[in-house]
Amino acid sequence: MAIQRPKGTQDLLPGTVEQWQYLEETIRKVCRDYGYEEIRTPIFEATELFQRGVGQTTDIVKKEMYTFLDKGDRSMTLRPEGTASVCRAYVEDKLYGQSQPVKLYYSGPMFRYERPQSGRFRQFHQFGVEVLGADQPIVDAEVICLVWDLYQRLGLKGLEVHLNSVGCPTCRAAHREQLQRFLTTRKSELCQDCQERYERNPLRILDCKNPNCQAVTEGAPTTLDTLCDDCRSHFEKVLSLLSGAGVAYRVDPRLVRGLDYYTKTAFEVMVEEIGAQSAICGGGRYDGLVEEIGGPATPGIGFAMGLERVLAALQVQGKFPDPKPKLFAMLIALGDKAQNEGFTMMNALRGKGVPVRMDLLGRSLKAQLKAANREGAEFALILGEEELERQVLLLRDLNSGEQTEVPLSKAIEVIYMKHRRGV
Ligand code: ATP
Ligand code: MG
Repeated sequence: MAIQRPKGTQDLLPGTVEQWQYLEETIRKVCRDYGYEEIRTPIFEATELFQRGVGQTTDIVKKEMYTFLDKGDRSMTLRPEGTASVCRAYVEDKLYGQSQPVKLYYSGPMFRYERPQSGRFRQFHQFGVEVLGADQPIVDAEVICLVWDLYQRLGLKGLEVHLNSVGCPTCRAAHREQLQRFLTTRKSELCQDCQERYERNPLRILDCKNPNCQAVTEGAPTTLDTLCDDCRSHFEKVLSLLSGAGVAYRVDPRLVRGLDYYTKTAFEVMVEEIGAQSAICGGGRYDGLVEEIGGPATPGIGFAMGLERVLAALQVQGKFPDPKPKLFAMLIALGDKAQNEGFTMMNALRGKGVPVRMDLLGRSLKAQLKAANREGAEFALILGEEELERQVLLLRDLNSGEQTEVPLSKAIEVIYMKHRRGV
């Protein structure tokens, strides 16, 4: 039997890959405009990095990691997300010694062992941004605006930013106590996971997707109820900056990122129309993370965006620009000698940056002309035995049908000039 690709992975074929390139190019442009620089970290890391950097109680670490022993018996993990690696690099490569804040972005494959379904893959792709070394609310607002701006440039509609503040370790302690008190009598009604969370990490009960747990936690105290003065004024400032920038947001007190090193702002961007997996971006502040993985105390904020889901939204909303034809001329050589001459000419033109192609299958003139039209060529450059004898090239304008003869000795220069003038 033929071998198949692993479950939850995709082959991105020509025809689709152009959509990826368009999205990736738009992302790069926005990041350049905002002054974010690219970072590329390894696809695999020491397992411990994710255990500490993502958190032992998360679904990712508990159930979803691709972990293996390498030949030296070290536990390695295919990266399930990007933030931990960026923070590791910030510490290991001493980026804290550069002028702050450090504004980085990444884009690439991530790996999670999940049940494959629409919008959920085992190898998927994230674009993400991390800002390290700045704790001001204007940074939170800028990062969210970057996401928003990217979606505007892509022309996406029906978006909503969901926003919350999960406070800091000080005000979260008060929330934890209030939440546990609220739930004491109804603890047994929670799902198994949430019963465990009750002791270890009750905040995450608010985020449980189980409808039963959602009913039990209705009216429960949220982190917004217990924010300390510092966290409250930080959150209010973020909201007022976002309003000023025209971002459509909604405060959602149930949105949480439930680890000790997640602080203050948490957000998600949802889009209608792409089905159950409607979160296309998730992010927030993590002022305790760099320290958690062994670096100096450093505030941080970032997000990660699922590119498959953004592409799905662009597809349903029909937002891809028309592909532009990339071919300038098709060189049609007929006969062995003409092929030799044509091949040399094609390479000289390519060397000058003119996109030219030749037939690779030994097809007839008619078939080659058809291919030239299909590929959107502006010109057909025809070189048959008779032309070769007379040392000329036929230059046919495929838009007008007009045909001229050019001496072979001048052909390269003439075609090059036409391409430069955009004719
Ligand atoms: P979800 O609730 O959908 O599982 P998550 O909280 O696990 O999301 P994050 O870890 O915050 O997601 O990742 C950020 C974004 O990456 C998500 O909003 C989503 O767009 C995308 N994403 C996460 N997991 C997958 C996956 N398995 N396949 C495709 N995209 C994914
Ligand atoms: Mg998930």
